[in-house]
Amino acid sequence: MGVLKFIIKFIWELPSNVLAILLFFFLGVDKFDFDKKKGICIVTMSYQGGLTLGCFIFVSKESYHLIPHEMGHIRQGWCTSWLYLLVIGLPSLIWCLVYKSLGKPYDWFYTERWLMSRATSEDVRTQNSELRGKRDFGCWLPGADATGTAAETKIKTNKLLS
Ligand SMILES: [Zn+2]
Repeated sequence: MGVLKFIIKFIWELPSNVLAILLFFFLGVDKFDFDKKKGICIVTMSYQGGLTLGCFIFVSKESYHLIPHEMGHIRQGWCTSWLYLLVIGLPSLIWCLVYKSLGKPYDWFYTERWLMSRATSEDVRTQNSELRGKRDFGCWLPGADATGTAAETKIKTNKLLS
């Protein structure tokens, strides 16, 4: 991704990016990987779980399997621009905190369901023959029961990052 395109993308999601930079000071950043091709920063943080804001994906070392899921939120960011925080960010943060006590599956909520539907249509098209036909893109769900094998998750992660 060229510098100009990155700047435009950065402004396109300015509120999310500003918040992400502010969060750098609170989330205990261990590592910082910039994917030049995609214009995405993968930030390894000391907090558990995953969080996507603008060009930034925050994940803990133990949660790298969530990166494909967070890539879905990256795409939602492209679609929602400045509205991301209001339409996706805040609702999904609240959802993450309450879904268990409501007894609903994680992907029941629109922020995650939208991402799932995008994941299945987009990735089914691009996935290699090894994964073809498998509808459950397990790593898009945080539940261990839906995660699939480590090898599958690795293939998906590499695919999405390459
Ligand atoms: Zn999510």
